[in-house]
Amino acid sequence: MSDVLVILDGASEPVVDDEPTSLERADTPVLDALAQIGTVRRLRTTPEGLPAGSETGVAVLLGWTPSAPVDRAALEAAARGIVVPGGRITRRVDVLRDDGLRGDAGPVAAALGLMLEVHELGGHRLLVIASSEATLRAALRAIPAPLHVWPAGVVPPARLDDCTVVIAGSGAVAGLGHLLGARVITASVLGEVAAAAAGEIERGTPRVVVHVDGADEAAHARDPEAKAAFLTRADEELLAPIAAAIHAHGGTLEVAADHGSDPRTGAHDDAPVPALRWDPQATEDDEEVDEGALTDEDLPVLATPKRRATAGAPTGRRMTERWVATLPIETP
Ligand SMILES: [Zn+2]
Repeated sequence: MSDVLVILDGASEPVVDDEPTSLERADTPVLDALAQIGTVRRLRTTPEGLPAGSETGVAVLLGWTPSAPVDRAALEAAARGIVVPGGRITRRVDVLRDDGLRGDAGPVAAALGLMLEVHELGGHRLLVIASSEATLRAALRAIPAPLHVWPAGVVPPARLDDCTVVIAGSGAVAGLGHLLGARVITASVLGEVAAAAAGEIERGTPRVVVHVDGADEAAHARDPEAKAAFLTRADEELLAPIAAAIHAHGGTLEVAADHGSDPRTGAHDDAPVPALRWDPQATEDDEEVDEGALTDEDLPVLATPKRRATAGAPTGRRMTERWVATLPIETP
């Protein structure tokens, strides 16, 4: 019996007038079925005063509320097994373009590498290690490209054990899992993530946490179509097999965004997020389920393309920003 938490990075976003959000536009028959038979909630994953981001939202969803912004560099180093020698300081540095979008870190890594220890983290991300703040600042000042330097912060305490497995592709979340003491599986392709999660559910790992970052990546690229398309794919390639594995082997499923990510601006959003919880046992025991309502028996069926083509979009309760807007705000 596994308690499974699927975190869709940056899946929610601000509601603007009648314009549908990415969660509303995505074709998500499995998520919609889960919303009908489970409980839809509105969660505050970004405590007041903390920045909206996976390092905050995933930490809160995992049960640790940071007292201050989380040290992003410590997460990146932990994710890659990079040891920062005592007395040295480390920072995550993002390379931006003049228009504010994400840039190419390669040339900056080469230039900074002459002055500092530099690790390329992929895309626009770097991890730099320096002997002092002054050395770091001097090296960064020499770089003409716009940079975002993540501030130092609190390092997550070890409070989990190998009863929890974190399956993630993002360095921040893998590092968070390592530092919190969980077992970590690195995977980012949806099919691989789903297979890893199904394997853990089959063997009865008590707590399985899955994090996928495609929706957030699309929002940062200011690409609303890609964000909705990723959520559609995640429903079919990730949530369907996970729901089927829970159906077969027992357990519960929670789905949540870790924070909002606005595809119009490319910025994170700290508003409470939509989430849902499905407990198949509770569904079976609940005598007040409507006649003709979806049951957990429908989940594997809904996930097949044939049924999807004819089922149409379910109406009513959905895990969307608009639907949860009138619900009380809960903490995870
Ligand atoms: Zn992001």
